[in-house]
Amino acid sequence: MIKSLVGVFFWLCFVVASPLLADEISPRMVLILDDLGVNAAQGRAALDLPGPITYAVLPFTPDATRFSIKAHAKPSKEVILHAPMANIANLPLGPGGLYPHQSEAEFKQVLRNNLDSLPMVKGLNNHMGSLLTQQERPMRWVMEVAKERDLFFIDSRTTAATQAANMAREAGVSVLERRVFLDHEIDSHAIEQQFLRAVEIALEEGEVVVIGHPYPETLEYLHRGLPLLDELGIQRVTASAFLRQETDLQKRQALQSQQRDMESALRLTSE
Ligand SMILES: [Zn+2]
Repeated sequence: MIKSLVGVFFWLCFVVASPLLADEISPRMVLILDDLGVNAAQGRAALDLPGPITYAVLPFTPDATRFSIKAHAKPSKEVILHAPMANIANLPLGPGGLYPHQSEAEFKQVLRNNLDSLPMVKGLNNHMGSLLTQQERPMRWVMEVAKERDLFFIDSRTTAATQAANMAREAGVSVLERRVFLDHEIDSHAIEQQFLRAVEIALEEGEVVVIGHPYPETLEYLHRGLPLLDELGIQRVTASAFLRQETDLQKRQALQSQQRDMESALRLTSE
């Protein structure tokens, strides 16, 4: 009995001591660029940015397929669906729009068609959505489709009253929430201020999710600003890499607690 306990204990020590421990992960930033697919020139410029980036592509836009294939082929880049969702200002959503008046069958079919149009997507986030994301029922439908396709969701948080993250957790869908919008104001100085705010959050809280757009001002600033992250030891990761790290951490924490239980069991047996 003691022999087998000791064996398991050493195995746990080995597993827990290998790769990363929770407090050894450096601060992380997930950078998402929205509204891709509309403008081919902007898309090309957005793809020229270095390092891990998650690109959110609007369905059925002129450059959507070509852009997604190019992004998908690049290392450390990934594509998600930028799902157009009804907004309070009633701004037009374009093709693939999701609205509260749709029946469940119609709503899910529109969403599935959007996803089918971009087969390389790993997740989705909301385009606009200040009206739809407040409503539990349609957000539950979104998460049911995300779950059946094994996709993650990023809540762009276009309203403080959003229910998206709650509904994702309830459905067992991996979720991230946007903390900083880079370019509400399309001005180099304002973009820099927002980027520095994101850097501060990453350093203080260990993680930050940032959303920007492929505006020339934003891309120009990012070329200058991104090297700062390396200097500060902030790791840039795609959304899916971030979520994978989270899963690894949780597994590791579970093993650590098993190890602690084992240590106390061994202590009791030797007394
Ligand atoms: Zn958008």
